[in-house]
Amino acid sequence: MRETKTACCYCGVGCGVIVESDGERITGVRGDPQHPANFGRLCSKGSTLHLTANPVLQQQVRALHPELRTARGAPRAPAAWGETLDFIARRFVSTIREHGPDSVGFYISGQLLTEDYYVFNKLAKGLIGTNNIDTNSRLCMSSAVAGYKQTLGADAPPVCYEDIDHADLIFIAGSNMAYAHPVLYRRVEEARRRNPSLRMIVADPRRTDTARDADLFLPILPGTDVALFNGMLHVCLWEGLVDTAYIDAHTEGFAELKRTVRDYTPAYVAELCGIGEDDLIRAARWFGQAKAALSFYCQGLNQSSSGTAKNAALINLHLATRQIGKPGAGPFSLTGQPNAMGGREVGGLSNLLSAHRDMADSQHRAEVARLWGVESVPATPGKTAIEMFEAVRRGEIRILWIVCTNPAQSLPAQRMVREALEKAELVIVQEAYRTTATVAYADVVLPATTWGEKEGTVTNSERRITRVNAVLPGPGQARHDWEIAVDFARRLETMLERTGTLFPYTTTEQIWNEHRESTRGRDLDITGLSYRILEQQGPQQWPFPEGAAQGRKRLYEDGVYPTASGRARFVDTAYQPVAEPVDARYPLRLTTGRLRDQWHGMSRTGTVAQLFSHAPEPSVAMARVDMERRLIADGDLVHVTSRRGSQILPAFAGDDMRAGQAFIAMHWGEEYLSGRNGGFGVNALTLPALCPASKQPELKHAAVKILKAELP
Ligand code: SF4
Repeated sequence: MRETKTACCYCGVGCGVIVESDGERITGVRGDPQHPANFGRLCSKGSTLHLTANPVLQQQVRALHPELRTARGAPRAPAAWGETLDFIARRFVSTIREHGPDSVGFYISGQLLTEDYYVFNKLAKGLIGTNNIDTNSRLCMSSAVAGYKQTLGADAPPVCYEDIDHADLIFIAGSNMAYAHPVLYRRVEEARRRNPSLRMIVADPRRTDTARDADLFLPILPGTDVALFNGMLHVCLWEGLVDTAYIDAHTEGFAELKRTVRDYTPAYVAELCGIGEDDLIRAARWFGQAKAALSFYCQGLNQSSSGTAKNAALINLHLATRQIGKPGAGPFSLTGQPNAMGGREVGGLSNLLSAHRDMADSQHRAEVARLWGVESVPATPGKTAIEMFEAVRRGEIRILWIVCTNPAQSLPAQRMVREALEKAELVIVQEAYRTTATVAYADVVLPATTWGEKEGTVTNSERRITRVNAVLPGPGQARHDWEIAVDFARRLETMLERTGTLFPYTTTEQIWNEHRESTRGRDLDITGLSYRILEQQGPQQWPFPEGAAQGRKRLYEDGVYPTASGRARFVDTAYQPVAEPVDARYPLRLTTGRLRDQWHGMSRTGTVAQLFSHAPEPSVAMARVDMERRLIADGDLVHVTSRRGSQILPAFAGDDMRAGQAFIAMHWGEEYLSGRNGGFGVNALTLPALCPASKQPELKHAAVKILKAELP
């Protein structure tokens, strides 16, 4: 028996796990009692990880060898790695020579390790010369990135998990933390048990399990978060709960915001948000009077056509009341995916560069070009997730390389996405699982290793870096994601007649060391860290500059912010309604979200029978009153129809639903819906309206109608 320490591969809490193996198979998993993210706890998903590594199952669901088809319409056939990568490299060279570097694109994933991310980013921006590389993290946290940068000057959550123990108010907005970040929520529950005066406010359109625990629940209408936060600030202003000394000394832009917030009277906001005026005032008082208020927020704020404004409005509230830069206080965006944070660190989005540098900044581009040893990094903005698929559909991007993600299920406006995948001249899918909907569109399948087989690092929601270790080798001919990228890049360099290589790596540590050097002097400086320190001293938070004994728990305690003036910036946020309001034809507000026991598109959790005991099949939840009006009984099949598509699902009354709302979990795709929905899953219904600042789509709201389905 052998034990290996690594990290859970699901959510951004980033729990440490100890994996037991017998040399041939993974036999068990338990929480790592020494990991500061979870102290030994695991949730239902993490504690069943070993079941997903069952060798018999692996043979059924894993991509085991490269597959290639050289002409559209022909079946894919097994091929050797060398032949496959040479084929792709030749197609890249001919396409780039004929149509330029922006005719290719990469769509990668927050599931990748930091080292994988780093190499793909360098391959696209450094070697090929295109910024067309974006990630499924665009769907979960790009509004949080933009919100932090606009207000605090850097994409860095200023808080840590330990702040839960110092807070006397926890404000959870747009997050069903009990389901989506369960182990962190256990810590909130424990803190509340220990400290009865710790209050909890939850703002959410649904009465989720998290909301049921709240001392004050604000059941706001979808998309009204900015109005709520502005309304709370309005009350704090009137009641003298803002910290004028802090505002004067450490911030700028408050006068403009104050003028805007003046209009957000409690009566106006209460009506707009669909909540009681007294509850709004109470929430504002609790927040403003708290010694330390800690906000947790996630997709309810981010997945919105005004996602950045929602983030900024909440951070405005923290800055104005000085609920930041002290123990137990601050705005804390939870990352959905295990390494969304690591992807941000290496600049793995189309508008970012390594170590939180900006694509739009010529000095930053020059710094990265120097670090990478290339002439320049392109200035042309790359396409973000939805834009990339639209560009593929228009024929502007001809080759699309998809890594470790399933856009044929997870992106909104599935018809457009699937048209794009059909239209592309070459679709490469690098995947551990051959069961995803996207693999069906692949001209080339590159089998990749996954959890339990990979090594490198991940960073969790509190900026903590954990070493990820391999337990067993991957099955069949599966290779590591970074290795595939490096092997391809070297072939491309040869065909492009480059001398030397930008990709000299033979280990993940070499890649990580290069990434580390790129952070020198930046806000996320990790020059004092090493693989050895991570292994010997355990997971560490950034920044961790050279000479530091440990990482920094909390940021901005000195009131100095990484902006040009050193002051935090208030952003003048005005409420904007959802992109697709309800009307007589589509009268119900559909929201989407996670279930407790499933993860994303279920490639992994869908292989574990016990994880279906909580919710065995997809369904739509509605308010009882809406069902009765439509003569729908529990379990009846209904058509859920938006302007973009229709799904047939069983309907159930949920006591978490207000009248006029509906909820469908995001997890089920066509493979689970067995054709009765014409494929696609819930994203047949969602729309590609984007936040103008973050380009994150509004996955949390669409107008739908629901009618009872005729029985055959
Ligand atoms: Fe894994 Fe998240 Fe559960 Fe922790 S809380 S075990 S990281 S899924």
